[in-house]
Amino acid sequence: MSHLTSEEIFQLLDGLLETSEQELLSQHISMCVRCRREVELHRAIDGVARRQPLVKPSARFTTTVMQRIVAHDEESILYRVLRRSGGASPW
Ligand SMILES: [Zn+2]
Repeated sequence: MSHLTSEEIFQLLDGLLETSEQELLSQHISMCVRCRREVELHRAIDGVARRQPLVKPSARFTTTVMQRIVAHDEESILYRVLRRSGGASPW
């Protein structure tokens, strides 16, 4: 059997594999130092990521994002009008 792919490692750690496939990969991992280290590394990274607290956005987050989206759209419209009229871009 060839070494595990990243996809197989993610699926294994997330418990997304069929039992027979999981057993096959686990058997390979028990004999292959390279794949065992790779799985341990991904498991450690996953553990660190899960222990991080969720960041709660500020109360103004949605408003600020929406303002930026609207401003971007307005800039895009202005830019198109200027290009169509042959004017130089102010940017
Ligand atoms: Zn291997």
